[in-house]
Formats: sequence, structure tokens, C-alpha cells
Amino acid sequence: MCHPRDSDVIRHDALVSISDKDRKILWARSGNRCALCRRVLVAERTATDDEAIVGDEAHIAARSPGGSRYGECPTDIVDRYDNLILLCRVDHKKVDDQPQHYTTARLRQVKTEHEEWVERTLGNILPPIRFQFDTNNIFFRAQLMHTGGDVWHIIEGAHRFFLEDLDEDGADPDDLACSADFLQNARDWGEISSEVADNGMRAVREAKNSLAIDLKALQERDFLVLGGRRHGVITGGVGPPSPIADAYLIVLRADDPRVTDQADKTGQFHGTQPDSH
Ligand SMILES: [Zn+2]
Repeated sequence: MCHPRDSDVIRHDALVSISDKDRKILWARSGNRCALCRRVLVAERTATDDEAIVGDEAHIAARSPGGSRYGECPTDIVDRYDNLILLCRVDHKKVDDQPQHYTTARLRQVKTEHEEWVERTLGNILPPIRFQFDTNNIFFRAQLMHTGGDVWHIIEGAHRFFLEDLDEDGADPDDLACSADFLQNARDWGEISSEVADNGMRAVREAKNSLAIDLKALQERDFLVLGGRRHGVITGGVGPPSPIADAYLIVLRADDPRVTDQADKTGQFHGTQPDSH
């Protein structure tokens, strides 16, 4: 986007003293377009010339006696953003020559509607938010969780949680409850993990102890928990790309066939496909 330089701005009145801040707000909220005809007010650069500013920062109520709509804005704020409207030169002349039609109220309304249009339009052209993962690596290596600390390292700072509960078919209701409690507790700690970490070692230890209690209850019922993490990047929206971490926790029976290496109880598990929403 091209922002006007001070020296480029055409002013209809040599006495105008609009602050840089008000000027920037006006141009930004107007999307560099005339509030009436929506024409772009910055002419593209050519091979031999820089961009040209073809817009006016027009006063809604004139600052000088005899000007259009003079007296309808207090003098101390006459050069402020609220009393300015961005117009092309053709519309600026029209507005100043036809003050009976272009009243103060009408121009304020035009400006508000224009700025709302700009906001809606810009909102629609923001790039969509995408989660991007290494497509060659949609499998993640899951490891056996021995301690509450192991679980903490999986969930800490994670942005998304993929939790796989016990298969319900023929399962003991107490086993199911135990598994669901563990996973819910792990997600809850994960979602507040940065606040917990900010509160210091003692708070982190409390979280690990809480996870250890639930993990032990599962181990006593002859279940095991595998955990893994996958890292990717979020792109789109207004900010720069930022890292994202997915946490996976799976509750399994100790003899689950997906545990491929019975010696160290690890396995390859399918992560989610790269997706967007
Ligand atoms: Zn115009």
C-alpha cells in the first residue's frame, strides 16, 4: 500500500494545519479512496514518475468564513479527523459548490458508510488462515508416557489437542471414565499451560502431579498412554506466520496391536492432514 508523503498532499487552503496523525487515520480508514466515488486517490507510479496523490483532505465544515458549511464545527477541532473527508478533486469541488445538497450531516453519513465499506472489503481480502504441516510427515512418533512430566511436555504450549479415548465397545464403564478423565485433565492443563509456566516451578509441579495421579490410575488398570507432538506453521490473517504445535495423546490397552515396538512401547500414528479453516 502506498501512503502519501506530506509534500504530496494537495490542500485546498494554505492555512490548513492537519496533524500527521489525523491525516494518516483519514487515509487509512478511507482505503486511499474517494468517499463519494471510491476512486483510488493514489495514481500508480509510471516508468519515469513516482506515485501521484490525486485526493484532497476536504473539510466537512469549512475552517474559514465564507466557506461551505462554515460554523458547523467548533474552530478548535475544525482540522481534526472528525471534520475531514477524503475526496477526489472532482467530488471535492462538487461538495463545496453544492452545500445545500451536501450538508454536514450528509457528508458525515457518506464518510461513515465509506469507511465501513473499506473495513468490510479489506476484511474479505485478508488471506485465509491455514495450518501448514510438513506433508511428508503426517505420521508422528508416539512415545510411552511414564510420568506426569512426560505428559506435561506433550501438552505444554500446544495449540491443538488430538485426544484418542479408549474404544467404547465392550469396555468397562469405570475404565472409560478413567480414560476420559485423564484426557480431559490433560487438555485443561494444556490450555492453561503458558499461564501455569508463568506462575513458576511450583505451579508446573502441581500440574505434573495432577497428571501423574490420572496416569497412574490408568496404568493400574493395565492401560498405557502414548503421546506425541507435531509442529507446523499458521499462515494468513493479519499477522506474520507463527509456529503451531499439535499435541496427541492416545489411551490404549497394553496389548493394542498398533503398538509396533513392544520393547519400548512406541508406534507410528497417523496425524491429521494439513488443513485449513
Ligand atoms: Zn470522487
